[in-house]
Amino acid sequence: MDIQELWEAALGEIKLNISKANYLTWLKDTFIVGFKEGTISLGVPSSFTKEWLENKYHKQILHALYNLDPKIKKVEYLVTTNGDSIKKIETKKTKRSSSVSKSSVLDEQLEFNIDFNTNLNPKYTFENFVIGTNNELANAAALAVTENLGEKYNPLFIYGGVGLGKTHLLQAIGNKLRKEKKKLKILYASSEKFTDDLVNAIRGQKMTEFKKSFRNLDLLLIDDIQFIAGKDKTQEELFHTFNTLYGKNKQIVFTSDRPPKSIPSVEERLRSRFEGGMIADIGYPDFETRLAILKNKNQDVSHLISDDILKYIAEVIPRNIRELEGAFNRVMAHARLKNSPISLEETKKILSLILNKSSKYISPKEVIKKIVSFYDLAESDVLGRSRKKELVKPRQIVMYLLREELQYSYTSIAEKLGNRDHTTVIHACKKISAEIEKNPVFSQEITILKEILYNK
Ligand code: ADP
Ligand code: MG
Repeated sequence: MDIQELWEAALGEIKLNISKANYLTWLKDTFIVGFKEGTISLGVPSSFTKEWLENKYHKQILHALYNLDPKIKKVEYLVTTNGDSIKKIETKKTKRSSSVSKSSVLDEQLEFNIDFNTNLNPKYTFENFVIGTNNELANAAALAVTENLGEKYNPLFIYGGVGLGKTHLLQAIGNKLRKEKKKLKILYASSEKFTDDLVNAIRGQKMTEFKKSFRNLDLLLIDDIQFIAGKDKTQEELFHTFNTLYGKNKQIVFTSDRPPKSIPSVEERLRSRFEGGMIADIGYPDFETRLAILKNKNQDVSHLISDDILKYIAEVIPRNIRELEGAFNRVMAHARLKNSPISLEETKKILSLILNKSSKYISPKEVIKKIVSFYDLAESDVLGRSRKKELVKPRQIVMYLLREELQYSYTSIAEKLGNRDHTTVIHACKKISAEIEKNPVFSQEITILKEILYNK
């Protein structure tokens, strides 16, 4: 038996004892890179996988190998990049070509793409925003803002349903100006972040700093303003922030999931500020726009998915671009796992789960249960306070999924997960999103988890 055959035999053995999802996530992409003096060196695709194998599956792996060849006494895990399809998509990641990587999961998590000063994520640009009849007006208004900062449409108020491109457009304004006019002071914040900073400032008696950070700007971008409903102190502070900026001809842009008049419990004086500039809505994208968005994504992955499949996806997911992208990613993940093209039939099967999703309600309890069982943990591990790495990650994933899939507020997620501070949840969601962005293996894992959520 040669060494790769040996590993395949061992994998066959391990497979019998762990779930298929776990196998696909952690073991499928491993291979033997060396065997010397009783030590097997296993190549693994990421340091995250490395830690999981070390912490959760080491015994099983060693056992299976030892049973096949008693000379094997030790197994070590090396983060390597082999020449498979995942590599192509890993564009920005630093190379770790077959050398041992010392970086831990934590190091990896700290490499955010998000700009520290402005909070902007550089991935949202005008260049990759597909224009259709649904967003034409909002796009034009956003562009006009970048060309007449503080002068033409102030404030600009963009509203529209979930997953239709509001955050994208809002951040595109910031990213364009950040590139073109380096001296501008720009800040992107969700309205929840505004509230948080305010609460912290009040607690820590740092109101002067708070005011400075929000009032000393050329451009303030506030996302999801609907969350200020009923928060009196936030509204008051926002009102003064607005007046200060506006009085200096500084630009403010808001987004919301509904028009100003439909946000409940907002002080009249603030509502009239929202309505005082330009209001632009984003509607549902038509078929052509949806297909164009998918084609763009497909280009980024060297046309992994065929056109008829893109058309099918565009057809069946009409009302949410985030879901459209999610469906695309799911199909792509399967294609990568298979390492060969996916057929339309397979696509239909893969998507049947999410297509029934809107009619399917899953409770936070179920989410916790399923994630916990995926990682072979106990519920108390996720609800508890232990800072062990192998518990923190799944806990953060649960938070992320409750936010992304169930659209729970940060506060209610915090409550459901053992009464934590909601800033922990915000932090977790950020970390997981950032990791998904830059780690294809991890992103694949999340995709699998989402599928598991909607499975019986
Ligand atoms: P919202 O803030 O309205 O809920 P987002 O801005 O987060 O939605 O958009 C959801 C996803 O869809 C993002 O990944 C975004 O990049 C993508 N998206 C939305 N609209 C477009 C578009 N017109 N062109 C390209 N991508 C888009
Ligand atoms: Mg948004």
